[in-house]
Amino acid sequence: MRVALISAEAVPYSKTGGLGDVAGALPKALTRIGIDAVLITPLYLQTKRGYLETAVIDDLDIDWRGGRYKAKAFYSRANGSPTFLIDAPEFFYRDSIYGYTEDYERFAFFCRAALTLVRLLGTPPEILHLNDWHCGFAAAELFERRRYDPFWAKTRSVFSVHNMAYQGGFDLGELWKLDFASERARNAFALNGYASAMKAGLEVSDMLSTVSRRYAIEIQTPEYGYGLDWLTRLRADRLIGITNGIDYEVWNPETDPELPANYSLADLSGKSTCKQFLLEKFGLPVDLNLPLIGSISRLTAQKGIDLIMQAAQEILETGACLISLGSGEKRYEEFWQSLRDYAPQQVAIYRGYSEPLAHLIEAGSDIFIMPSKFEPCGLNQMYSLRYGTIPVVRAVGGLDDTVEQWDAVNQKGNGFKFTPFEASAFVEKIYEALFVYADTESLAAIRKNGMAADNSWENAATKYLDLYRKAASL
Ligand code: ADP
Repeated sequence: MRVALISAEAVPYSKTGGLGDVAGALPKALTRIGIDAVLITPLYLQTKRGYLETAVIDDLDIDWRGGRYKAKAFYSRANGSPTFLIDAPEFFYRDSIYGYTEDYERFAFFCRAALTLVRLLGTPPEILHLNDWHCGFAAAELFERRRYDPFWAKTRSVFSVHNMAYQGGFDLGELWKLDFASERARNAFALNGYASAMKAGLEVSDMLSTVSRRYAIEIQTPEYGYGLDWLTRLRADRLIGITNGIDYEVWNPETDPELPANYSLADLSGKSTCKQFLLEKFGLPVDLNLPLIGSISRLTAQKGIDLIMQAAQEILETGACLISLGSGEKRYEEFWQSLRDYAPQQVAIYRGYSEPLAHLIEAGSDIFIMPSKFEPCGLNQMYSLRYGTIPVVRAVGGLDDTVEQWDAVNQKGNGFKFTPFEASAFVEKIYEALFVYADTESLAAIRKNGMAADNSWENAATKYLDLYRKAASL
């Protein structure tokens, strides 16, 4: 099975969120189970140049806007699988990875370049695995080309939705400039008078997937479908949910180099050292008995920061400390800052992005909160489980798939989850988690259950293989 996985971001080359984690880890896991997987992703200004091997392709000659565009492609195996990075400074050397009005054009170009590269590599892949709206252009292009180009005749597309809320909308009039002039292409993109790259991907791809079982059901409802639920319902027979794994090499408390002390299920003593180090680092009083609650999140409405705002006072009244890592919308950054100013002995924040701090917070916290409004999969709750930290989450998307409600009688479950998007429901679960934290026996049991959960990529990769086989047989 030969698979070309195309993604706008992939760890360790680039990352703004879960998509980057998945696109970096999945091809590695696929390679391990014997699939010939190649990853194609852009070379950004932010990509560490140390990862690159020689410039394998110097003159990637791309058909673009009626002319030719010369780009390069670098090779790397830094993520554990063969990777090509498309080098086109005009499109990808920017201050940030996303956030420009012409993003649709940048990723339409990326898709064109990726398909040109695949063709140049010589052997047609059985599967093009396309990810999120950025790759909707590649789905539409394969759909077109398959009709007249024998190279693509046997290639099937799998389109994965990582977040339905971002759909890559743009003006329908732009389509012809991107060489999608046919009636068929226009119909694929057209949505309520504008063009949607996500819609094209969902409409013309051979198989569809999302990043958790629960999210596959949710995106078929108006609440989570963001205007495309009719289409996911229409194609429900082609849609499956595969819950993401986490990279067990990168996220392993036994070997994690970011931690002041390593630990395992058999010997958790290192976890206290991590907590002490974390409290000291953030200038909080070092009282190891007080519960420490962590949060690592983009500060957007999706992540349920409104619930944290509403619950903050009650959480502080329990005596627990709170540490937040993240940046995002101004109103949420201001909230965390003001909470810190209000209770500097209990609250610490780091506004920004820091991979080392993310590891330290997962290890040093006792409880991790993720009250998301919606959560396609979510990774931090799985990191928490692996690091013996109790997740308190809202029962949506992948949070619902991976967190099992604690059952005190049978000592089963690995965390706490609530359903109504209400602060009172959230606070109630925090109280429950604090009760467990205070009881040595229950704490040991819930940690053991969490640390023993299998959220490895190997598990998920096998499910992707089944999906690829299904697509290839169409
Ligand atoms: P999303 O993709 O919606 O942001 P996920 O939970 O799927 O949410 O993935 C987020 C990833 O980004 C996780 O690996 C998380 O640890 C990481 N992350 C988010 N914010 C930060 C931050 N401020 N610093 C470091 N890592 C972060």
